[in-house]
Amino acid sequence: MSVGQEILEMLKDEISENEYNRYIKQLKFDEKSSLIDHAYFVAPNKLIASWIKTKYSEKLAHLFEIKTESRPQISIVLESDLKGRGKKAKKETAPSNVIQSLLNASHTFENFVMGGSNQFAATAAKSVSEKPGDIYNPLFIYGGVGLGKTHLMQAVGNILQAKSKSVIFTTSEQYLNDFTRHLRNSTMERFREKYRKCDLLLIDDVQFFSGKTETQEEFFHTFEQLRNDGKQIIMTSDKHPKKIAGMSDRLISRMEWGLVADIQPPELETKIAIINKKCDINKIRLPKDVVNYIATVIENNVREIEGILSKIRAYAQLMHIEVDISFAQTILKEHLGEKKANVTIENILEMVSKELNVKPAEIRSKGRSRVIVYARRIAIYLARNLTTSSMPELAKFFGMKDHTAISHTMKKINELIKNDEDFRLKIDELSNKITSS
Ligand code: ADP
Ligand code: MG
Repeated sequence: MSVGQEILEMLKDEISENEYNRYIKQLKFDEKSSLIDHAYFVAPNKLIASWIKTKYSEKLAHLFEIKTESRPQISIVLESDLKGRGKKAKKETAPSNVIQSLLNASHTFENFVMGGSNQFAATAAKSVSEKPGDIYNPLFIYGGVGLGKTHLMQAVGNILQAKSKSVIFTTSEQYLNDFTRHLRNSTMERFREKYRKCDLLLIDDVQFFSGKTETQEEFFHTFEQLRNDGKQIIMTSDKHPKKIAGMSDRLISRMEWGLVADIQPPELETKIAIINKKCDINKIRLPKDVVNYIATVIENNVREIEGILSKIRAYAQLMHIEVDISFAQTILKEHLGEKKANVTIENILEMVSKELNVKPAEIRSKGRSRVIVYARRIAIYLARNLTTSSMPELAKFFGMKDHTAISHTMKKINELIKNDEDFRLKIDELSNKITSS
């Protein structure tokens, strides 16, 4: 019997028979690939692999240590990984001529949970759907990622489309691409025909117009024409029109002409209501404590909540089990771990230093100047949220007394985020930068 198989036998005594039969039995030790410091096990599919990795790799490493006196790294891989090593994944090619996305039919008002954080924007959108081109024109919705901006704008679109109105939904990037393409092909009349003759124009994420002078110029005229004709325009952005750098003044003033409504991150009760709604829609059954747990752990992104729910559902179906709190905890641990695995404190320090023009050594010093304190706060906040570092580790890294100093700083920063829009935007911007790099 190979050592790996022996380890698996040993594991049998450590866990319940049920657990063993369900997961571990499907695992095979890969003798050929394994080395003294790296043990490979093969799992039948991705879900089982990542489940076993999260739940059992510690135990496996420990058993190796007992047995062989060395603690290898544990990899749970797929059969196909072993065969296909080095092979490149086939590239997906998106059709380049798609310029206009369709509306998502499930983005309706019925499927949208209202709460204090989004009530203003949702009510405004509802009114617009009842009286397009009349009351709030344009309607400008702004707020953080995954909070329902696109959903709300499309909810209006779905209602008007059902009334046979012509609705165009586009992102500012698609609009820009469409514009340059028509310009290049000298078919601008067709471009104008399309955008200036619709009943409802939905432009998503207009912050990407930033710095694009010609597109802004064109959009300004689209806007004027539509509004003169009493047609409705809805725009979304991650920030208030005034805060979008590189946007022409006259366009900013047009954006503010109707109603500017913000969406805030959902409060706990709203998050719970959203989770329950999503479970209803997707026929997922979750105990109350699991719902509360997810709502507490996922801070402020509804899209992320959806991701977690579908992951939980997939695992639960695959393993034929009822979801309980420890199951949910394992899945969330893995989810958060995946997100954090790739970012280090050093990455963050380097990026904050470059972006804010403060030397790394200064950020880690005890300097009290405003710029340094500002940079340090941002670095600590990002390190706490985007890496797996513990508070004591952070304290050590940033030269602070102990973990209470970090926890104090975090409290201070959370207050700032709540009360200082500019600070929140900076954090969002840098956080996006680091996670997408
Ligand atoms: P944004 O455009 O603000 O980044 P989206 O509109 O794409 O966010 O929303 C992200 C996901 O979360 C969508 O699937 C949307 O249906 C869902 N969602 C956001 N807010 C709510 C809400 N209040 N009720 C129900 N679903 C929501
Ligand atoms: Mg969106």
